[in-house]
Amino acid sequence: MTYNTEAIVIRSQAYGETHAIITLLTPSGTVGAMARGAKKPQSRLAACVQLCVEGVYTLSQRSGLATVLQAEVTHVRRSLHADLTLAAYAAYFCELATRVAEPRPHGSEALYRGVRGVLDRLEGGADPRLTARMFESKALAWLGAAPDWSRCVACSAPLREEVWYSARDGGLLCAACRSRHAPDAPGFMHVSPTVPRLLSMMTVTPWERLGRLQLSELTAHQLQLVLRTQMEDFAGLHLKSRRVLDQLIGK
Ligand SMILES: [Zn+2]
Repeated sequence: MTYNTEAIVIRSQAYGETHAIITLLTPSGTVGAMARGAKKPQSRLAACVQLCVEGVYTLSQRSGLATVLQAEVTHVRRSLHADLTLAAYAAYFCELATRVAEPRPHGSEALYRGVRGVLDRLEGGADPRLTARMFESKALAWLGAAPDWSRCVACSAPLREEVWYSARDGGLLCAACRSRHAPDAPGFMHVSPTVPRLLSMMTVTPWERLGRLQLSELTAHQLQLVLRTQMEDFAGLHLKSRRVLDQLIGK
């Protein structure tokens, strides 16, 4: 079967001396594809196997790995390769996408638009740290690992002034439920009342309607800790690119 699809490269690795194997995210899910000869200097496929590149791919596929017959690149995202920090964020978003997305044809167009949105936002000069928190919120929802952040995860009461995050419960706790949990349990922390509001907003608001947010250092730090703990301890997502990013930005 031969077909055309728009796609974003979310993983790319060399295969032998001259080939590349890429993972494409399409509006209907991921597909692995071999780009023969793409690593040769003069290859017409060289541009279309770079991470974050977006284009229209012509694929031939019987089963398993597809073959890239040709590709027309529509968006190179050059700045995400030129800047070391942006490249590390982009690699992190791409790896997160590979873990969250379903294979074709079971994927979701919302996820495709989300990945395109996060890369565009990064390229457009938005604060990468905040952009990461937005994408992580959405990734948790796509994975089915996001609670209703506006409510206590134990009793469903709307959250008010006093709020705690509990990794064991995979969500936020109200003051009443907090007393049933050991305050020194791992992954247990008091958070500012703006954290539930921000998490809810970032999870449900579409990319195109998420504006620029101004956060205090404390809130930004708490958001990062809550999302990271929820991703790693609750959803089991340990990403290599995250460790690279941490080393680079000094976390
Ligand atoms: Zn409660």
